[in-house]
Amino acid sequence: MLEEVSADLLDRIYGPAGFDGIWSQQSRHLQASDAFRGQKLSLDRNWVVTPQNYVCSICGRDKLQLAQLSMGSLSASLHCDHDHIGDLIQLKAKELDLLVDIRPIIELYSFYEPLIICKACNWIDSQVKKMLPKVHKFFSFPPKDKATLIKEFGKRRHKIDKKLALQKWKLREKQFTARLIGIERDLLDKLDSRQRYIGYNPKKKLFHGAFERFSQVEQASGLSLSFQDFLHVSIGVHSK
Ligand SMILES: [Zn+2]
Repeated sequence: MLEEVSADLLDRIYGPAGFDGIWSQQSRHLQASDAFRGQKLSLDRNWVVTPQNYVCSICGRDKLQLAQLSMGSLSASLHCDHDHIGDLIQLKAKELDLLVDIRPIIELYSFYEPLIICKACNWIDSQVKKMLPKVHKFFSFPPKDKATLIKEFGKRRHKIDKKLALQKWKLREKQFTARLIGIERDLLDKLDSRQRYIGYNPKKKLFHGAFERFSQVEQASGLSLSFQDFLHVSIGVHSK
């Protein structure tokens, strides 16, 4: 069934709903361009659930600028960025054997909601921590801070303004330390809780929104595709 659905039909149905795939006109145009001619096309799930006119909210580059050659294929991949304070909260909750739904606590202490950004922007936090070991390993710069730290754009890594990164960390450090104290207190308050432990997965949250968008379009399309089948047919590594 899936193989019988034409690329143009998928593009007509799912493109306007904010999806992309190997079937999109843009993907086919990219694959046929001088820079990538003849390469296999490999998209990831984050690329598929973002619109064809997606622009990275940190660096402002579009999909045509973000696609790159990697290991013999045209690689189109995006990443889920989230505030790593959530990872610290989950770690501490597990150490304390807490029986709670951890999601509201993480949402309370996160500086920002999970979002999809490009690979180079997703490296910014790690690059800064390598340059400045004093930056707490569970600290994440909010998106608007990340944008200011880019000195020069790169496909895989940006050049980072180390001096500014230190300044930004110093501005945030006090607030971050206060959050750590609050987290400690809130988790200890839950020691007697006897609920079920429910973890937090930032990717799941992002994909839930995409699933809802998909379901609305799918019902109207009459194609009877499951979301998994749709992702499968959209990602591929397919020869031209
Ligand atoms: Zn970016």
